[in-house]
Amino acid sequence: MSDSQCIFCKIVSREIPSPLVYEDDEIVVFRDINPAAPVHLLIVPRLHIETLADCENQHGALLGKMVGLAPRLARQEGVGYAGRDGDGGFKTLINTGRGGGQEVYHLHIHVLGGPRPWKPR
Ligand code: AMP
Repeated sequence: MSDSQCIFCKIVSREIPSPLVYEDDEIVVFRDINPAAPVHLLIVPRLHIETLADCENQHGALLGKMVGLAPRLARQEGVGYAGRDGDGGFKTLINTGRGGGQEVYHLHIHVLGGPRPWKPR
């Protein structure tokens, strides 16, 4: 299901062209238009789910796939985890609702990495 007013649904449907870093039958990944860090990706399900709080048991596999993509894409972007003694690593973030600072009501995971300083998120 998609929402015709939703900006991320428009990216998913290619109504708004945005270069994709990754895509499969369930997920697209693109760069944040206003990056807070040198690497700032958004992992977005094709399915329009408004928030993490709207996820149900049936979405477990999709959520697992989204989370599992983060370390893989971070590595691809040069900010992968390099062990406890390495400098590499990245931040994953899901904002939920106004109190959580959510701006776009289509579930997404931020993946942030690279040299600091970063803009606050
Ligand atoms: P959130 O506050 O978690 O809802 O984050 C939404 C993010 O989407 C923000 O970091 C925005 O910069 C980003 N964003 C909004 N519109 C676009 C767009 N058209 N393409 C890429 N990123 C976007």
